[in-house]
Amino acid sequence: MMKLTHLACGIALAVATTAASAGDKIIYLTFDDGPMNATPALIDILDEAGVKATFYFNGWHFDGIGDENEDQAVAALQKALDSGHIIANHSYSHMVHNCVGKTDVDANSGAECNATAMHNVRSYQNPALDASKFDKNLGSFRQYIPNIDSYPNFKGTSLARLPYTNGWRVSRDFKSDGLCATTDEFQPWDPRNQCDPANPFHSSLMGIEVSSLLADKGYVIHGWDLDWAPENWGIQFPAESLTEPDVLVAKVGAAMNSCAPKTLKPDNSTSHTFPCGHPLHNDKVVILTHDFLFEDGKRGQGATKNLPKLREFLALAKAAGYTFDTLDNYAPAWQENVSYQAGDYVSQGNVIYKAVIAHTSQAPWAPVKDGSNLWVVDMASRLWASNVAYKAGEEVVYKNATYRVTIDHTSQTGWEPDAAASVTLFDKL
Ligand SMILES: [Zn+2]
Repeated sequence: MMKLTHLACGIALAVATTAASAGDKIIYLTFDDGPMNATPALIDILDEAGVKATFYFNGWHFDGIGDENEDQAVAALQKALDSGHIIANHSYSHMVHNCVGKTDVDANSGAECNATAMHNVRSYQNPALDASKFDKNLGSFRQYIPNIDSYPNFKGTSLARLPYTNGWRVSRDFKSDGLCATTDEFQPWDPRNQCDPANPFHSSLMGIEVSSLLADKGYVIHGWDLDWAPENWGIQFPAESLTEPDVLVAKVGAAMNSCAPKTLKPDNSTSHTFPCGHPLHNDKVVILTHDFLFEDGKRGQGATKNLPKLREFLALAKAAGYTFDTLDNYAPAWQENVSYQAGDYVSQGNVIYKAVIAHTSQAPWAPVKDGSNLWVVDMASRLWASNVAYKAGEEVVYKNATYRVTIDHTSQTGWEPDAAASVTLFDKL
């Protein structure tokens, strides 16, 4: 406990800043389902406003099979990389391999799936195969931009969002599942669809398992609090009715620090197990929207009508005192000379940590994955790891077996679930 002795000196306390500046209300603007030809114009407006966004991209657009205007998709990705926006992982082909009516599980064309008009139905069927589409997406990024991993804003290996699904895997106690995210028979907006969160659809359960598999690979998954969407996805030209900027700013205000995501229609946006009041959700609103709503084309006059709306929304939100950030900063980055309280969260090297002891941070006390008296790992992964504060009753996975924690403890090397030394710490299930 050497570090505790040092902490008692409190040398830097007088000049330390607090962990979060009170009053900052942050909007995380996210664009799903790109990159496509519509993307560069979005980036220009964001850049003009000095706002960084998070883009959840699907690599099938590079291969020209996403059924969008996408022959400029690689250039759009390069522009997003060069302009410092965050690139995150939305799977290779948006789970189209599960599209209803397909017999070939590896068939992969957006046009084929769009022809069935059965989106959100049976979106998840085989958790291992479905989760592998996020690996396939990484392969696609690297195929088209071989040095993509050298961009610090490329987060394809650490930030993910599930297609169709408002699911969250942020920290061990900030998890949430979209229990009505995907259905087994009818579209979520079909009046015949009845979602019972107590008895989730098979497809929803498979999607939850995909979330857990991705968390076990080290992904942080963010859903959304607000969907900047058309009035109705079922209409012929959805881009024509995107919410007005002033109304959207009011919706941000209503969603800020609300107990649960407020976008309830259709029901697939509902996150039924949202951890109300979790500190990682305070003063933050994640907005989901889609690149394809900002182009003139099959969904209406999206560029003509909605690019000005985006520009105006950014200006109005800034005037209302909101700041914008990207989802890699959802847990604030660890910094030196900050007065942290026990229970504060930080991120460092794509890992989320929780402070165990109040202290003022100094360079040698940065959080580390393999042991620290001050910080424990707090990723949502179920895989056993060292330096995690496990609580009795939690389940962990180690060497393909599941164990239940029997005594609260912080894990360390030598106390693996199958080690003789930890026989009182775990029950094998
Ligand atoms: Zn999507």
